[in-house]
Amino acid sequence: MDAVSGRGRRVVWPGGGWVTWCGRVGVGELAAGCVVGCAVRGGAGRLRVSYTARVSTPDCLFCRIVAGEIPATVVRETATTLAFRDIDPKAPVHVLVIPKEHYADVATLGQGDPALAGEVLATAAAVAEDEGLLGDGFRLLFNTGAYGGQEVFHAHAHLLGGAPLGPMLARSVA
Ligand code: 5GP
Ligand code: ZN
Repeated sequence: MDAVSGRGRRVVWPGGGWVTWCGRVGVGELAAGCVVGCAVRGGAGRLRVSYTARVSTPDCLFCRIVAGEIPATVVRETATTLAFRDIDPKAPVHVLVIPKEHYADVATLGQGDPALAGEVLATAAAVAEDEGLLGDGFRLLFNTGAYGGQEVFHAHAHLLGGAPLGPMLARSVA
């Protein structure tokens, strides 16, 4: 691929996600080395580049779903979010709602991009409506970290409903 150049332009990255660059760089060079938050790279005849990048993380299961590399039953998609059915549903309705951009968990998402966190909530609400959950109610939860039982480290909301779900925790931990 040809080198791209520009200043502060935001472009969609082919594998998902996006980069903002403020210098000049070969696309292959970005692809080879860029990770979230990487700082400066450069080469002969090239300006040094400061990334403010949120690039799709190749090892992340949900980034691969966003990129279309792993199939999923998508129920709603927006420019910034994706909602798809959980592969191992724990309730009659069990949909995962994620930001397309990679954030490891809801804490990182909420602090890093509160507007995007709000878009995840808006998508979850729209799916709840589509699935007929607004009348009887539903549960929306973000497992976070080890104590939260998180297994996939790309922020996701579990939208659960379609039957009474019982108490929030199986037993008291107090
Ligand atoms: P966590 O435990 O991280 O909060 O939730 C991860 C969820 O992802 C689990 O409910 C699990 O069933 C779901 N999951 C794991 N792998 C896949 C997959 O390949 N496709 C889909 N649709 N869901 C998955
Ligand atoms: Zn990811």
